[in-house]
Order: sequence, then structure tokens, then C-alpha cells
Amino acid sequence: REGAQKFSFQAEVSRLMDIIIHSLYSNKDIFLRELISNASDALDKLRFLALTDKSQLGDTADLEIRIKVDKEKRTLEIRDTGVGMTKDDLVKNLGTIAKSGTSAFLEQMQKGGDMNLIGQFGVGFYSVYLVSDYVEVLSKHNDDKQYIWESAADGNFAVSEDTENEPLGRGTLIRMHLKEDTQEYLEEAKLKELVAKYSEFINFPIHLWASKEVDKEVPADEEPEDAEDDADKDEDADDKDADDDVEDADEVDEKEDKPKIKTVKETVWDWELLNDNKALWLRSPSDVSDSEYDKFYQALAKNEYEKPLSHVHFKAEGDVEFRALLYVPEKAPPNFLGDYTSVNKAALKLYVRRVFISDDFEELIPRYLSFLRGVVDSDTLPLSVSRETLQAHASLKTIKKKIVRKLLDMFKKMAEAETDADGKEAEEGDADKADAGKYAKFYGEFGKAVKLGIIEDAPNRNRLAKLLRFHTSKSGDKQIGLEEYVARMQPDQKQIYYLSGASKEELAKSPFLEKLLQKDLEVVFMTDAIDEYVMSHLTEFDDKKFQNASKDNLKLGKDDKKAAKALKAEFKDVVAWWKELLGQAVTAVKVSDRLATSPAIVVTSQYGWSANMERIMKAQAL
Ligand code: ADP
Ligand code: MG
Repeated sequence: REGAQKFSFQAEVSRLMDIIIHSLYSNKDIFLRELISNASDALDKLRFLALTDKSQLGDTADLEIRIKVDKEKRTLEIRDTGVGMTKDDLVKNLGTIAKSGTSAFLEQMQKGGDMNLIGQFGVGFYSVYLVSDYVEVLSKHNDDKQYIWESAADGNFAVSEDTENEPLGRGTLIRMHLKEDTQEYLEEAKLKELVAKYSEFINFPIHLWASKEVDKEVPADEEPEDAEDDADKDEDADDKDADDDVEDADEVDEKEDKPKIKTVKETVWDWELLNDNKALWLRSPSDVSDSEYDKFYQALAKNEYEKPLSHVHFKAEGDVEFRALLYVPEKAPPNFLGDYTSVNKAALKLYVRRVFISDDFEELIPRYLSFLRGVVDSDTLPLSVSRETLQAHASLKTIKKKIVRKLLDMFKKMAEAETDADGKEAEEGDADKADAGKYAKFYGEFGKAVKLGIIEDAPNRNRLAKLLRFHTSKSGDKQIGLEEYVARMQPDQKQIYYLSGASKEELAKSPFLEKLLQKDLEVVFMTDAIDEYVMSHLTEFDDKKFQNASKDNLKLGKDDKKAAKALKAEFKDVVAWWKELLGQAVTAVKVSDRLATSPAIVVTSQYGWSANMERIMKAQAL
């Protein structure tokens, strides 16, 4: 456009667009999901602003999304009445500022990653170039004039004041000029199919400019109206006008003395509502089908291939009322807890009486549980306050506490279902079979989170400890929980014995085990680097103290004082010789009864690092 201000895309953004526009990725449909999701976000933002400042709504009070095609020009338009973008927003959000996800997504794509995940990396907008070779973004923000952003994905974009298009009032219109081979997105049927698929749970009405064949009764001697003319005429009319035409015809029919009438097919154009935009979480769990739960999860996760592992849907009553629908994903998010400072903030979406407030409230869920996804909708929180006040609101603490309880309960049930299913083998039918393996899967993906919970969430430590699973000297290939360990302890056994190391194979051969195995005592094998940190916070379980089998305070049974004394005397010289030989390298050399077949062993002091811990610390220092 003439007079437009030219910009270059930030380098990584430019590379990303280059990959997208040349992509052979077959599921191009996802662009629509991303654009509708952006429109919905913009509408959420506006609605939130309007809570404290009604004037934000201005003359454009309807919060909605409209989709329209122009077959001749081969354009597809998506328009929302959301918050819109100022000129500065357009420049920054759509081109010059690379988000943190940009390089991460580029990296994924180079490794053959899935384009479908683009939305999870915060660069979903650029997916328009899967289907378009030229895009215009018209936007009107309350604080600025209407602008056009345009780009053919050639490394540059331009922004100019919009003096040629119809004023938007407020919001954004994305006009896509479709590529040669993506003309299918001009078809109503295709668009309806996609909106049904991707936008079932969008909380704003989505309309499509669509045609409908209707029967129209006209006097037999009259020519039917030209359908094409009608389309233009009805463009801005609402439903009512179309209905009225039909009703008038009916009336004519009823009057018997009128001339003969005939029925003709007529094409009427109108805005058709495509979604029912009611909130799934407000429905009663008994009215929601499994497939609806799955689809809602996929909408939240912006990933249509993944199914949730489990969900919990409940209503909390009392002082603080809220509803929540929470999912455990099938897989941990990329780099989950790898970088514990950048937690998955978008875990839960907070609504207050159906109005979306935020999805980055860390106050809503402890970080060890930030792998969850879901929505929380509160009736108790006040609507007309700022984010900051809300963040400090006392109810939030109660909500968090209740959510954590419910979740831990869900994990527990998953674990119990698995134990039951294990016990009954497969004979009891499909329900049990479905449960079998579920907890193992959960623990495989999120076991670390359980362990971090033990370290960080003292009030729930005991509940979390029951969720731990370990191999033991007796469990074979299976992993067992501490409850099972305690249940089969020896009658006079007071402690829970454990040993930590790199693998269960290595531990099974450890001389530390000799005496314990001889006495038929079960030993828990801890092979995760984090386990020893966990054990420093978890000193007992079910009133039984934990005992590290590699430490010098391990006592097995009562001391035979006389025999010990005799042995001590017998080996006095050897001990002295060892002591002299090792010098400062050891704290003490002792005669002990802790071994069965090996002659000697190096143990660590009760309060020092175990050898395994030293190994881990060394590895981390590298
Ligand atoms: P994300 O939605 O994850 O932030 P996108 O690449 O989809 O990433 O969008 C980038 C940014 O562009 C958004 O964060 C938003 O600021 C802006 N944006 C995109 N679409 C719209 C829209 N319809 N209305 C207002 N702002 C939008
Ligand atoms: Mg987006």
C-alpha cells in the first residue's frame, strides 16, 4: 500500500514464517483453530477490561466472531470484536518481537516436530501462512485509529492507517488471500466442519456467512426472485427478516380465495450460528460424555491428537464456591520440571462467573502440579476488581487447597484402581483392564512431580508418600508402594530399609544388602537422583522410620554384646592397622556384624552424604 510504513520481521520470526509458508504439512486445518483461539483471547481481554470500565464496550457491545468468504476474490475473513491492536501492538505482536517459544518451536520443527503444536509455543498466528500467501490484518483498538498490517511472508511487513475498509468499531479482522491449493477453505461445508471440530468450546458465538436453501411459496404466475440479488440485499439483515418472508408466504396460502401458489427453491444468505458456546464445566458431570471430556481437553491443550489420562470434575460448596474441571495429560509438557523456574503457567484457566480472568495465576496451583490442565470457575471471587487485588484474595488460597486435595484424591484412586486390576488379573472385564497400567503411566510421566510435592508441600506429604512407587529387593519387575511394603514387613521389623544407587541391577548386587537379605528383610531401591532429597524430607511413613542401608547407624536386631566384645578384641590389631593405613580418609574403622559374606565395606555416617549422593552431586557439578 502507498504510504505504508515498512518493517522487517525479527530474524527468527522470519525463519519461522519461511518454514511455514513452504511447509508440506498436510493438516493445514489447524490455522483456523489458531485464529479462532486468538479471537477468543482478544474477546476475553475486552470482556475483562469492561468489568471495571463499561465504556470499553462502546458502540460494539456484541462480543462475537464472524467468518466470511469471498469466492471471487478467494479470500477468507475472520473478524472479532475483541480488544484489537494499536499500531504499536501490530508491529510488536505480529513481527518484531520474537516470543520465547519462537526458537523452541523452530528447533522442534528442525527435529521433525509436529506443526500441530504451534499454538503451544505461542506462535499460532503465523499458521495463517499454511494456507495463505498474503495476509491483511485490520485492527481497531479503543486507544488508536484503525490500521492495516500486511505481509506476503517475504521477510517484510507493512503497517498503514486503514482508510479504505469499513470501520470495525473495535476488534480485528484477518483477511487471508488463499494459496492456489487451499481453495477448499472457501467452502461452507469445510468451514462448518472445522469450526465444529476446533471451536466447540469457544465461549463466544461464532457465526458463518452462509447460504441456505429455503422453500418459498410464490403466486404461480410470478417469477421467482433472483437468488443472487437476494444475497446482496440480505447481507446485513438479521434472522428475523429471512423468517418474515416465509411467514408472509404462509399467510397467503391460508387465504383460499387467493390465486394459486407454487413452491420454489430459494437461496438465502445469513449469519449462521455454529457453536452453542455454553460452558462445559457448568454442566453436571452425569450430562457430559467421555468423548466431550476428551474433546474439551484437546481444545484446552490445542492438540487434537492427545487424550487426557484422567480427569476430575467437581463443584465445591461452602464459604468458597467454585467448579473445576481438571485433567491429567497423557504426557508431561516439553521440558517439564527440567527447568523448574519456568513452570507451565497456562495450566489452569481461572474464570469468575464464566468470565475468563487469567491463565497465569500461580496462586491457583502449586508448581509441582503445574502439569495439569483445566478450568476453575468461581462464584465467590469478586468480578469488578483488578488482577492484583484478585491475586491477593483470600478465597484463592481455599480454592488452591481444595483443588490439591481433589487431585491427590484422583491420583490415589488411579493407584487403587491399578492395584485392584492387578489383583484380579484380566478376568473382571474391560473396565479393570482400562485401569491397569494407567497409574504406572501416570507415575512414569509425573512421578517427579509427586516427589517434588513431598519436598515442597508439607501438609500433604503423607498423602503424596502413598503415591510413591519403587522397585524393591523383593518386587521383581513390579514397582510397589510404601503401603504394600509396610503390609508385608516382618512382625518385629521397625524400620523401612532403603538403598540408593544408579540402577536396581546395581543395587541388587550391593554388599549393603547382604545381611538384610539374610534376615529376609525387604529393601526399597531408590534409583532417581531426586530420591535422596525426598528422603531428607520424608523421615517416616506410617510411624515407621526410614533407614538408609548404606549408613553407619544401621542396626539389625539386638546386639549380642558378649560376642561383639570378643570379636572386637580378636580384630583389634587389624582395625588399628587399617586405621593407620587410611588415616584422614575415614572417620572410623569398626568391627561390625552388618555383613554376611563380604569381609569389609565402606559406609557413610548417618548425617553425611551417601556415596550415591556424592555421585549425584559430582555429576551435577560437571
Ligand atoms: P499467542 O496467541 O499464543 O499469544 P499468537 O501467535 O497466536 O500467539 O498471537 C500473537 C499475538 O498477536 C497475541 O498474543 C496477541 O497479542 C496478538 N493477536 C493475535 N490475534 C489477535 C486478535 N484477533 N486480536 C487481538 N490481538 C491478537
Ligand atoms: Mg494464539
